[in-house]
Amino acid sequence: MFNRYKTRGIVLGRENKGEADQLFTIFTRRFGKLKVLGRGIRKIKSKLRSGVCLFCVSEIEFIQGRIFKTLTDAVLVRKFWSLGKNPQKLEIAFKIAEAFDSLTAGEEKDKRLWQLLVNVFSNLNKSNLKSGSFKLEISYFCFLWNLFVLLGYKPEFSHCLSCGKELRSFDLYFSPQDGGVFCEKCFLKLPYKKRAELERTNLNVVKIVRFFMAGDWRLLDSLPVEISCSDKENIAQISSTYLSFLRTH
Ligand SMILES: [Zn+2]
Repeated sequence: MFNRYKTRGIVLGRENKGEADQLFTIFTRRFGKLKVLGRGIRKIKSKLRSGVCLFCVSEIEFIQGRIFKTLTDAVLVRKFWSLGKNPQKLEIAFKIAEAFDSLTAGEEKDKRLWQLLVNVFSNLNKSNLKSGSFKLEISYFCFLWNLFVLLGYKPEFSHCLSCGKELRSFDLYFSPQDGGVFCEKCFLKLPYKKRAELERTNLNVVKIVRFFMAGDWRLLDSLPVEISCSDKENIAQISSTYLSFLRTH
């Protein structure tokens, strides 16, 4: 007989297999990230169909077969309803799932990662902001920098990587490779080749990212500083640069 396992999980992705199956990527509370096969789940009469949906929390039961884990039961626990009604929220949910999936290893239980996922989806779900708002986008960046921190990639954003002094000058230079920023003085002393690898940023942006990394979701609606358009672009830029770097290293 196969062993049965039960756990709570959030569905991060799914792909169709064969005629009626679906392979789910689920981050679970007890086992970390799993791939679980829903046999016949695309058939109308499948009893599992209503128990799992994208970006929902479900209580799942599965058995470990020779190759696949197979879903044997699924009960929907929490659906983040508003994600499906707001195109920007849905787009952000996809970006969250993609970033999370690409940076996390396989079956490794991690309570803090679980909590981060639940928090970001709850936060996104309950937000009253309309599509197109940068504040909605902020949930994604806040999630991303907290993910970096939990995975051990917290960048040095308080002191210059080279001189070690507290960051005060406005112009700063982010190095994904070194996981931190250089002040302008130290940047100018770097070899040309090194300088070309760095991403220009500034003290405002670094302060905002530090605020994200503090991880207090309740404060997100009341960001202490006004964010200019160029700073918004810069936040998006350094976030995606760091994500791409971590994905490939
Ligand atoms: Zn310096």
